[in-house]
Amino acid sequence: MAQPEYMICLECETPSYVFEWQDGRLLEAHCPICGNDDPASFASEEDLEELIASEDKDEG
Ligand SMILES: [Zn+2]
Repeated sequence: MAQPEYMICLECETPSYVFEWQDGRLLEAHCPICGNDDPASFASEEDLEELIASEDKDEG
């Protein structure tokens, strides 16, 4: 996966341009709005669309 232009903070859904990307994955990220710096709490725009799409699905 190519480096995205920005990562979206899942805590406040704000795009952050402050992040480190290596070997196709997110190493470090920092949200200037809420101070979140947990890479697991960031998603690329593409990832976020997939998350939203999967939340809409009823897996029951
Ligand atoms: Zn945030």
